[in-house]
Amino acid sequence: MQNSHLKPGVVWGETYQQLVSACKKGGYALPAVNVIGTNSINAVLESAARNKSDIIIQLSSGGAQFFGGPSLADSLTARTLGAISAAQHVHKMAEHYGICVVLHTDHANKSLIPWVEAMITHSADHHRQSGTPLFSSHMLDLSEEPLADNLAECRRILAKLAPLGMSLEIELGVTGGEEDGVGSEDLGSADHSRLYTQPEDVWQAYETLKPIGHFSVAASFGNVHGVYAPGNVKLRPEILDKSQKLIQQKTGIEKAVNFVFHGGSGSDKKDIENAISYGVFKMNIDTDTQFAFAHGIGGYVAQNPEAFQAQISPTTHKPLKSLYDPRKWLRVGEKSMGARMDEAFKDLGSTGRSLAA
Ligand SMILES: [Zn+2]
Repeated sequence: MQNSHLKPGVVWGETYQQLVSACKKGGYALPAVNVIGTNSINAVLESAARNKSDIIIQLSSGGAQFFGGPSLADSLTARTLGAISAAQHVHKMAEHYGICVVLHTDHANKSLIPWVEAMITHSADHHRQSGTPLFSSHMLDLSEEPLADNLAECRRILAKLAPLGMSLEIELGVTGGEEDGVGSEDLGSADHSRLYTQPEDVWQAYETLKPIGHFSVAASFGNVHGVYAPGNVKLRPEILDKSQKLIQQKTGIEKAVNFVFHGGSGSDKKDIENAISYGVFKMNIDTDTQFAFAHGIGGYVAQNPEAFQAQISPTTHKPLKSLYDPRKWLRVGEKSMGARMDEAFKDLGSTGRSLAA
């Protein structure tokens, strides 16, 4: 499977599953980067191509709303259309970068289930017309609900996704910190025991969802969204190992679960390595790439302050157009984000391992 070659572009169904298997067998993971516009999408595609790595591009519902245009009234329709528009851009461009791209949506809590269902309807239309869904996978984060409700709803949605060749990411246990106001929990008030998923819960999820379709699990092993001062919560990736071993005992299948690492920004390299060895194939990255984009532009503004205040330089009396052209400083943001991505590919071991050929 590791040597199989895939067509560059958006993967789904069989090709998506090949990608996940290749990661787990090859002992590496793919960065899953949150995007909010064509600048961040292009920066991610460019850096993945440069690093010869496959990549996961994802949108939160807030990111989708922003992609569609923040002046539109905030509604499920705006969030759906924004996500569809982003997906169409990726479908159009991905193959030209020569790598495989997973298209995914991030945290959707109970109130956002209609958002996910609306996107599934669009994928079903796309599937009828072109034979492919729009997205490779969606996430449902019902970790705030009782486990039985969480799994029943995930089962219902996966039954809609599976016939379209789409996968579902679920969440068990709570990821601390905040992300887009979804799946959020104030670190100070978080019940720490909920930050660690029980292996028994992972088994229940496996038993419920395995017969329905392809899925992955964001299990909590002390993960926190965002970057905080170290020492607040301890990462315990061995929870993933314990879950895999429990399921192996019951089914005989080694590393049966596809794990996802949320809240990866600022993580210790050793914790990342361990998590990957326990079956993590996807690590979300948002906070660090957001900062990189902003930091690059901040440096540019500091170097060219006149260009952001006047069209003609008050000191040299020359036009500043070539400096304030948004392409100039947005490009600096893209490159800075790409440089942070270079690090992510290296940390996750995916550099040079694209299955596309
Ligand atoms: Zn997350």
